[in-house]
Amino acid sequence: MRILVTGGAGFIGSHLIDRLMTEGHEVICLDNFYTGHRRNLLKWFDHPYFELIRHDITEPIRLEVDQVYHLACPASPIHYQYNPVKTIKTNVMGTLNMLGLAKRVKARFLLASTSEVYGDPEVHPQTEDYRGNVNPIGIRSCYDEGKRVAETLAFDYHRQNDVEIRVARIFNTYGPRMLENDGRVVSNFVVQALRGQPLTVYGNGSQTRSFCFVSDLVEGLMRLMNGDHIGPVNLGNPDEYTILQLAEAVQQMVNPDADIKFEPLPQDDPRRRKPDITRARTWLGWQPAVPLTEGLTLTIEDFRSRMGDRAATAQPTSPL
Ligand code: NAD
Ligand code: UDP
Ligand code: UDP
Repeated sequence: MRILVTGGAGFIGSHLIDRLMTEGHEVICLDNFYTGHRRNLLKWFDHPYFELIRHDITEPIRLEVDQVYHLACPASPIHYQYNPVKTIKTNVMGTLNMLGLAKRVKARFLLASTSEVYGDPEVHPQTEDYRGNVNPIGIRSCYDEGKRVAETLAFDYHRQNDVEIRVARIFNTYGPRMLENDGRVVSNFVVQALRGQPLTVYGNGSQTRSFCFVSDLVEGLMRLMNGDHIGPVNLGNPDEYTILQLAEAVQQMVNPDADIKFEPLPQDDPRRRKPDITRARTWLGWQPAVPLTEGLTLTIEDFRSRMGDRAATAQPTSPL
């Protein structure tokens, strides 16, 4: 098949492209390199089935493809809050353009939505029929309301124009190739521990998240795309940890001498998050296979090799 991956130079998109290329598909990657990098795709540059196009999806583009994985959108709060109007444009105008393209060429369209559509959830764990508790005017709204509109657009193109859609609600995902300055919790803690700096826990660290390793997530996305259910489907790891537990795990694995310091909790920071993955299990036969300690080990190795000699020596133990 010929497959378009928007945001394919980013963290999840580049891992997805590795899988699609390995399976022998033709892949076109569209990216404006806001948070993505050509280095994530270097190994495919000379491959005859791979094409990289620098393009901003808020502008229309005409391509002929069979499937669209629509991932283009900055995912980390510091990046999506840097230019919030641009984030909304990417989610609304960008998604509209990609749905228009999918309609024209009759391609199947998968939207990378997010657990953020549940906001600061009052239902725990979150099931797909929970409608969320979202602040429409807060600093996270450009992202979470943007993704909610993107879901609405996808379902309206499905109902109105018969576009074959798939909607994945992705929960916190981590792994190799996250950016050093990404600002998300796993990359922050790993980078801080490798540099011997204090690990910054926001609030008292009692808020929870559930962390999915990127290879598990990519497997879930591909099963959703090629299965019969349109979704939405939660894709994430249901193992829930407090942020303080995560800090202690990274501390022990990388640098037991690193301190933990507490900083103010950002505005609208969700208190708890954990996916109910019953749909993914029954519809897709999918569940995560990589435990947190194993995924963290692979992630730490990747950061260490990128950061070179600045990194400290790993201690292969974890309290998790
Ligand atoms: P990322 O920031 O690494 O990747 C996003 C990619 O989109 C980057 O390569 C960026 O350059 C590109 N991009 C951004 N705006 C664009 C535009 N206007 N035109 C073209 N390209 C553009 O993020 P990621 O973690 O790989 O996330 C990928 C997708 O998954 C995003 O849609 C994100 O919302 C979603 N998601 C991620 C997580 C997570 O934990 N990583 C969780 C939920 C949802
Ligand atoms: N679009 C695109 N590539 C295509 C087809 C459409 O970028 O191959 C854009 C198009 O420019 C429009 C959007 O997608 O801005 C929605 O397209 P649609 O055909 O649904 O709406 P219309 O063009 O009729 O407003
Ligand atoms: N967080 C933290 N220290 C950091 C970065 C993040 O304690 O250096 C917290 C953040 O306040 C949130 C959780 O970790 O409660 C996850 O944050 P992230 O930005 O990774 O993802 P999201 O909030 O979008 O789930």
